[in-house]
Amino acid sequence: MSDLEEPTHFVKKIIQSDLDANKIQRVKTRFPPEPNGYLHIGHAKSICLNFGLANTFAGECNLRFDDTNPEKEDSEFVRAIIEDVQWLGFKWDGEICYASDYFSKLYEWAQHLISVGKAFVCELSMEEMRLYRGTLTKKGTASPYRNRCPEESLSLLEKMKKGQIDEGAMTLRAKIDMGSSNINLRDPVIYRIKNLKHQRTGAKWKIYPSYDFAHGQGDALEGITHSICTLEFQANRPLYDWFISNLPVPSKPKQYEFGRLNINYLVLSKRKLKKLVDDRVVDGWDDPRMPTIRGLRRRGVSARAIRDFCDSLAIAKTDGIVDISQLEHFIRDDLNQHAFRAMCVINPIRLFLHNYDPAKVEILQIPRHPNKTELGFRSVPFSSMLLIDRNDFTEDSSLSRKKFKRLVLGDYVRLRGGYVVKAIGVDKNSKGDIEQINGEIVEDTVGQEPPEGCKPRGVIHWVSEVHSVNCTIHQYDRLFNTALPEEGSQPFVDYINPESLVVKKDCKAEAGLADASIGEYYQFEREGYFCLDSVLGSQSNLVFNCTIGLKEKSSKYS
Ligand code: ATP
Ligand code: MG
Repeated sequence: MSDLEEPTHFVKKIIQSDLDANKIQRVKTRFPPEPNGYLHIGHAKSICLNFGLANTFAGECNLRFDDTNPEKEDSEFVRAIIEDVQWLGFKWDGEICYASDYFSKLYEWAQHLISVGKAFVCELSMEEMRLYRGTLTKKGTASPYRNRCPEESLSLLEKMKKGQIDEGAMTLRAKIDMGSSNINLRDPVIYRIKNLKHQRTGAKWKIYPSYDFAHGQGDALEGITHSICTLEFQANRPLYDWFISNLPVPSKPKQYEFGRLNINYLVLSKRKLKKLVDDRVVDGWDDPRMPTIRGLRRRGVSARAIRDFCDSLAIAKTDGIVDISQLEHFIRDDLNQHAFRAMCVINPIRLFLHNYDPAKVEILQIPRHPNKTELGFRSVPFSSMLLIDRNDFTEDSSLSRKKFKRLVLGDYVRLRGGYVVKAIGVDKNSKGDIEQINGEIVEDTVGQEPPEGCKPRGVIHWVSEVHSVNCTIHQYDRLFNTALPEEGSQPFVDYINPESLVVKKDCKAEAGLADASIGEYYQFEREGYFCLDSVLGSQSNLVFNCTIGLKEKSSKYS
């Protein structure tokens, strides 16, 4: 950080003062995901904070997998997390680290604790242990195995490690203080027997360290100076410090906690997101309705928008709920600046221009971005047979110009980037539905003011029918129909919005979109921002996901 900049939040202040006081020479942070699911936007806050601090203070940030629980972990998640961190635009220092790389060292340290009388092998069952542990108001009771001699504990630990003891029959516990007001210090379990294959170490280990026993020691081994985690770990901090001061660790990291990101209308918990995937409520971890990095990406949200949003968040010592409109603001703002414009008619109806030569095709040049002419122009074919949106036309000429700034029978409207046209009649089918609007162009109005007396009501989008590209649009609404789905009286899955995905087929986009590539995003004028998801079939049907509307919507649910 330059001398002129004032640290903006408490973690920065701590780091700055540690550097000023020469307590550390260089800051080192880490992002420590557990590979039991895909990353979500809450993790992005932690990623931006940890990698951001390393950038700000010219330090380093590690990526470390907290892979101590083989039950729920998988190499699929490891690969996805690596990709997502990279996609977000961050690069870790050195090799990727894994808590499992430290299993041997941790085992040695467990033996060390036993030798100095600070750990013991316990034979209480889970249930007994819970009873002995006490409560917030009642002190715990010591395990009858607490004073077992170190030699015996060492030999039992060895047997546990070799798979000679049944799962659940024994644990290794730190010997701290059963009378502590902090339950975490009441002789916590540091090793459990788990007869499970680990995705990296295979069948080598039959015992696995607890999160608390692995995390701080991993920090110490990597030389992490500031171990930043979310508030729920505050009560674990004394235990973190206890291990660091009771083990011969090579460095002395410190833990700091900040408030985790919560956003209304979203659920940010890998466990709950996994349930949505497993129960097929959504189409997978990358479903565009998911708040995962994958989902947001597929929805059309850029890494830049996610980073800008995360940088706008308070780093505080309290938890809060961020309004989803704050996230949406950053998504929209980013797309407004960077998305090329295009036209796509979602509910097409034909507009036939009777005074335009049916054999003629004009190629209009329309700016890719209205405020950035340096981005150039796109070629948009114009012909006598156009498609406009059904909702942009009415026969009701009594509607005021202020109320209906689109095409009205007998009146004028401007076609975006093209002519001013007038609606002169309609063709209807036997049921009375309009099948075609008949119209006329006003000559010489491309890029020019119309003649006196001809006042277009507004501007609408359009495509030339024969040149248009078929597409399917996925329109999304919020996944939950209540702001705080985790806090209702029913399980969170009961608040799923059944209309969170609406598929619109037979939409027609301007010709140039035939060349769009997957992941590319556009502003479809007057409709919103859309991202190309996939291309279906030989007909080149383009599937677009709607990222977000043009304007902040007032939620129908709030
Ligand atoms: P989840 O509850 O979604 O499973 P977690 O905390 O168990 O999240 P981890 O993989 O352990 O997930 O998290 C990796 C890092 O990301 C941790 O440091 C954690 O504190 C941080 N993190 C997780 N969720 C959030 C969030 N909502 N806001 C900020 N940081 C988060
Ligand atoms: Mg976790």
